[in-house]
Amino acid sequence: MLIVMDAAATPEEVRRVVETVRRLGFEAHPIPGAQRTAIGVTGNRGTVEPAAIENLPGVLEVIPVTAPYKLVSREAKRENTVVSIRGVPVGGNKLAVIAGPCAVESETQAIEIARLVKDAGATLYRGGAFKPRTSPYSFQGLGPEGLKILSKVRSETGLPIVTEVLDPESVDLVAEHADCLQVGARNMQNFTLLKRLGRLRKPILLKRGMAATIEELLLSAEYMLAEGNYEVVLCERGVRTFVNHTRNTLDLSAIPYVQRISHLPILVDPSHGTGKRQKVLPLSRAAIAAGADGLVVEVHNHPEAALSDGPQALLPSMFAELMDQVRRLAPVLGRTA
Ligand code: PEP
Ligand code: MN
Repeated sequence: MLIVMDAAATPEEVRRVVETVRRLGFEAHPIPGAQRTAIGVTGNRGTVEPAAIENLPGVLEVIPVTAPYKLVSREAKRENTVVSIRGVPVGGNKLAVIAGPCAVESETQAIEIARLVKDAGATLYRGGAFKPRTSPYSFQGLGPEGLKILSKVRSETGLPIVTEVLDPESVDLVAEHADCLQVGARNMQNFTLLKRLGRLRKPILLKRGMAATIEELLLSAEYMLAEGNYEVVLCERGVRTFVNHTRNTLDLSAIPYVQRISHLPILVDPSHGTGKRQKVLPLSRAAIAAGADGLVVEVHNHPEAALSDGPQALLPSMFAELMDQVRRLAPVLGRTA
């Protein structure tokens, strides 16, 4: 259920509605908007008897929310959410590009790539310290040492850091170094992790599971909003299909679909989406044209020697070309880059 407050409702009136909802035994989530405040009600099994609420001062209307997700829905918040990752906006008019290697391999590698992507125009840096690998014998990441390197990348380049967290136990450690914590495709439905991240006050990049529907993606985001973390950025990274010309099938139709039903920003990862560097540029253009709020792109200065995902890593010159194309495309779509 959603309670829409009048545009002229006072903070005191909002507080009173929140208290009433809680007194009735439900959770209340005030969502301030540009025009008015909405209050999401969760914890109710069926519909809440609206009479107790709709006559309170300042209440404009009480709307039953039919979708299973509530706080992530456009019904709850009409304006697009803009998530600030250490001052870099994701979801506003300006396109956000998160770039860097799949994994942090050494300080030299991480810093060299950071300088290259920054020079080309990336505004956020990515790199995994904890890697979720299909084989237990593959490189698992440098762990805590990798996180320290990421902090160094930030202090040397000023780029905010996006890095993956694999389990609830390492959330605090990763949060010490990261400006945004990534939940990978394989963990999209790790509900214990999602609940823990919901209690964190840092942005989260939530990647779509490789066999997840959009409804499941939004419900995973809902777990974090329900715990109080509203700074969630979604990411389409391809789903598994029967084809073998591409690592995954990048589902660009997810972008307009998500944007119609949710206020959360959505990025596209054409690197994992395709698995092959030749496909990253054309699908980046397509993602921006389809309305994505930005890109997540893997870049490596020596992809032939990369410890993970070398075949999909862009060479620095290709990334510079990508940024050039994004800058030229943005104004056509009424955006900036
Ligand atoms: C990654 O971003 O390096 C990664 C492992 O992505 P995904 O979870 O989308 O496979
Ligand atoms: Mn990768």
